[in-house]
Amino acid sequence: MLKRVNRVALIGTGFVGSSYAFALLNQGITEELVLIDLNKEKAEGDAMDLNHGLPFAPTRTQIWYGDYQDCGDADLVVITAGANQKPGETRLDLVEKNTKIFKGIVSEIMASGFDGIFLVATNPVDILTYAVWKFSGLPKERVIGSGTILDTARFRFLLGDYFDVDTRNVHAYIIGEHGDTELPVWSHADIAGTSISEWTKNKDAVNKEDLNQIFLNVRDAAYHIIERKGATYYGIAMGLVRLTKAILRNENSVLTVSAYLNGEYGQNDIYIGVPAVVNRKGVREVVELELNDVEKEKFSTSVKVLKETMEPVFKNI
Ligand code: NAD
Repeated sequence: MLKRVNRVALIGTGFVGSSYAFALLNQGITEELVLIDLNKEKAEGDAMDLNHGLPFAPTRTQIWYGDYQDCGDADLVVITAGANQKPGETRLDLVEKNTKIFKGIVSEIMASGFDGIFLVATNPVDILTYAVWKFSGLPKERVIGSGTILDTARFRFLLGDYFDVDTRNVHAYIIGEHGDTELPVWSHADIAGTSISEWTKNKDAVNKEDLNQIFLNVRDAAYHIIERKGATYYGIAMGLVRLTKAILRNENSVLTVSAYLNGEYGQNDIYIGVPAVVNRKGVREVVELELNDVEKEKFSTSVKVLKETMEPVFKNI
């Protein structure tokens, strides 16, 4: 009997999708990868190009361009399709356009018999993850958004750079909306188990303003990159691969994803960025950090902004 292999279906082979496919292939995470895009020629061209790299890949991956029928046997469907931010546009500006696109995409995927896990990256990611959950009818655990995985990575990189410590030894989360109302959880930020306030003690060169500026640079990073090169894609692509690995290899890894809150953090009926344990079944559980009062208030504001943006959109659908 043939051994069952992992299949990832990627919807949207634009900047983010094709960078994800490239990173996935380079890390040898899945045995099968099917590329689907409205622009069939782009997906076909990407499949050809990626296949030509196979002799240099760590493992064998079967890559082809396909259609929604191919999602029926997929373990994971990753959605990076839709409009991206233009210079000056916020992520929330994209909501109506992309929710409509998603209605069509998700109904085609479900019609294929898909019964796996959804991973969403298209913006505004928290709202579109909620939309996928609603449109698909799948359990909340099996619909995951990339949430603040990228913002958290940016935060860890910038803190590591500032303190001159390997970013992998910096543990600090950005939670909330993947967007302008996100917040840093300074109360739980640490370097090698030492809180940031302890680490900065007796270091005259470190000041609070610098730390605040680091957060602002995280929050506004997409604007800074889009001004320079029109889009952001490598960081998120690697974050999506990290999530794919956590899912397909049943890692129980804690990653900041857009997860459904059902009472956690005192919130209900919302997908938003929080740390969560991710494994082969999706989100095993949300990690509830003990936030201080300032953080609690900022998190509530973030939830409120998302809910206010979502309300009119879901009323019309
Ligand atoms: P892009 O324009 O390069 O690619 C979008 C792709 O979607 C295109 O290839 C297009 O043909 C395809 N598409 C559009 N409608 C479709 C449909 N109905 N069915 C199938 N395919 C369709 O955009 P991009 O730069 O790759 O960005 C994609 C999305 O990812 C945007 O919403 C962007 O804001 C988001 N993004 C998210 C993060 C994050 O952290 N979550 C980071 C960067 C970008």
